[in-house]
This record gives sequence, structure tokens and C-alpha cells, in this order.
Amino acid sequence: MKVVVPRETTPREKRVALVPETVGRLVKEGYTVTVQSGAGLAAGHTDDAYREAGAEVVAELRGALAAGDLLLKVQPPTEAEADLLVKGSVLISLLDPLAEPARARRLAEAGVTAIALELVPRITRAQSMDVLSSQATVAGYKAVLAAANASNRLFPMLMTAAGTVPPSKVLVLGAGVAGLQAIATAKRLGAVVQGYDIRSATKEQVESLGAKFVGLVEEEAETAGGYAKEQTEEEKERARQHLSDLVAAADVVITTAQVPGRRAPVLVTRAMVERMHPGAVIVDLAAASGGNCEVTQAGTTVDHGGVLVLGLDDAASDIAADSSRMYARNIHTLLKLLVKDGALDLDMSDEIIAASLVTQDGSVVHPRVKEAVGAA
Ligand code: NAD
Repeated sequence: MKVVVPRETTPREKRVALVPETVGRLVKEGYTVTVQSGAGLAAGHTDDAYREAGAEVVAELRGALAAGDLLLKVQPPTEAEADLLVKGSVLISLLDPLAEPARARRLAEAGVTAIALELVPRITRAQSMDVLSSQATVAGYKAVLAAANASNRLFPMLMTAAGTVPPSKVLVLGAGVAGLQAIATAKRLGAVVQGYDIRSATKEQVESLGAKFVGLVEEEAETAGGYAKEQTEEEKERARQHLSDLVAAADVVITTAQVPGRRAPVLVTRAMVERMHPGAVIVDLAAASGGNCEVTQAGTTVDHGGVLVLGLDDAASDIAADSSRMYARNIHTLLKLLVKDGALDLDMSDEIIAASLVTQDGSVVHPRVKEAVGAA
């Protein structure tokens, strides 16, 4: 079976779908791997490293894919990239198919079999294939470093000849995968850390990292899938009153709250930002889905009366060597499930495959994506 890895063309995207380590493993397992020249450079891998791992490196990918071949990507394909996909070829990538159903429809019309990595279910058996978790882990870490870099204060308490410097107070909103990694990283840098969420399960997780839980646990806040539900207007108001003093007292706020398929909830209002001290920093990891802070602008830093609001939308891509390494390992484990005896074998009785397969045999087959295509 042949897998093809293009150079990502989305601006600021530094990751690559396969790193040489994974290429080596796939080649040993009998795959043929073709990599576009320069695909791994921003993630720290030269063309020679891919060649040494057993890949063929080509300048142009036009004509590289035939029916049955796999295209492995990080970002959803642009129109030019989608043109590489011939009828019967297979695409494995982040695809955002619920937000962009038209793309799924076009892939179906082109006869492409598409698997959306963000639809891999968050179940124990799928943990090693879960790119949302691996990339969120890296993003949570990066958010803290970005905050420490932008802050005009030290994170750790220092007792020096010039007196004692108190530690920074870091408040992390949303204690999912990214938030828990942000808490752990801020603790390691010596900050005093608080964690906030509405799901009751997060209290123990936050406390196990040595942070104080300041969440406002709502009854039935969690869906069967472990995600948060969208809050009612009354709950949102209660949360804002609860958060106002916590945000005002923080030196750094890191926000990571998401509700799948919805705009990110606004947890930090403009009025709350205006109560923070000049030099305080907010890092909004939900920037790409609308932001948890009213002031956030995705992809840029806003100076709001001396409070810096960083709208990080490429945090995982920024640590491209390790985020790509983890992404590639996730894909490798998924391939073990999808490919049997050198051919794609989509067993729809497997819940991971059924949940992530978007298009097959010329149709959109995923029920929720099909619904979104109809609505669009
Ligand atoms: P996410 O990115 O969807 O959201 C991040 C956090 O924001 C969540 O903890 C959520 O509760 C919180 N949040 C949402 N709305 C909020 C609000 N209004 N106020 C405060 N907090 C709010 O979450 P995630 O990191 O993708 O994790 C989601 C769930 O999936 C968790 O239960 C996690 O443990 C679980 N999970 C399971 C697996 C697995 O078993 N394979 C892997 C990863 C995550």
C-alpha cells in the first residue's frame, strides 16, 4: 500500500503528517511512502532523513496518487491539494466536516474515501489514535510558555538578596486535555495555579496536579461522551459573577473551554479584562473557534488597556517537531486498524471506523455530516 505525504500549504502550519521515525516503521510493515520535498523541514526533518527512513522524496505530487493510495495530511486539503485525490484514493486528515460540510460533499463527489481525524471517538481504545488529545497536550504547554513570555512578572517565587518576589497567579479556564497540561506546565514553572471547569470530574484532576479547583460545577454539565454541554443563559450569568473576581486577581489567565460543534463559550468578558492589572496576560486557546475572551482576535495579540490578550490559533503547530511526532504516531496506530493485508478494510462494525469515516463510494456516509450537508 502506498502512502503520500504532502508539504502543508496552510499559512503558519509547520507540522507534517508523518515523521521519519514513523516512515521507517511503515516501510518495515510493507508500505511504500512518498513524501513531497520540504514537507518536514518546518518540523525539523530534512528530505535526506525521510530518504534514510525509506521514503521516496519527490518535488511534485501531481500524479503520485492512484486508486487505493492514501494521502496523509494535517490541515484539511485546499482545492489544489484535493485535486491530487483521484477516484478511489483515501484521505486521512483533520477535515472539520461538521463546520465545513461542503468540503465533505466535494470529496464524496470526487469518489474519495475520507477519514476525519477529529471524529475519532474519545474512548479508551482510541486514545493512541486521538490527534485532538495529542495536539491539545502540546497546545496547553505552549500556552503557558507564551503567557510567561508575554508577562512582565516572574512565574516562580524567588527569595533573593533583592528581596522576595511573589509567584505569579495563573488561572486556567477549562480543565480538559489542554487545560490540564497548562496547569501542569504552570505548576512546573512555579506559579500558584487555579483550575476552573463545570464538569465535576475535573475537580479531582485539577487537584491531582497540585492546583486549586475553583470550578463552578453544574449538574448534568457533561455529555455521555465526556464533553461539556452548552450552558443556559442563567448558568452563563452565574459563571460570569463567579469568575469576575478570580480573573481580576490573576496575573495570567489561560482559556481552553470548548463545546464540540459550537462556538467557544465566552467566559471572560470585556468588563473582566478591564478589571485586570496592566501587564496581566490572557492566552486564549479557543481563539480559532471564536475565543473564550470577548477581546480575543484569533492569530494576533490585542493590547486592551495594558492587558495583553493572545489569540493563539497555531499553538500545537508552533512546537512542530513533537506535535508532528505525536500526530504521526496517532496516524500509524489508526492505520493498523484500517489496513489489513495491505489493503484498506473498513469494518463498519468497529465504532472507531464508523465514527470517523466521512465519505465512501461517492457519498457522504457519516450521519451528522450528512445532516450538515443537507442543512448547508
Ligand atoms: P474540550 O476541548 O471540548 O473542552 C475543554 C474543557 O472546557 C473541557 O474540560 C470542558 O468541560 C470545558 N468547558 C466547556 N465549556 C465550559 C464552560 N462554559 N465553562 C468552563 N469550562 C468549560 O475538551 P477535551 O480536552 O477535548 O476533553 C473532553 C473530554 O474528553 C474530557 O472528559 C476528557 O477527559 C475526555 N477525553 C477522553 C479521551 C479518551 O478516553 N480517549 C481522550 C481525550 C479526552
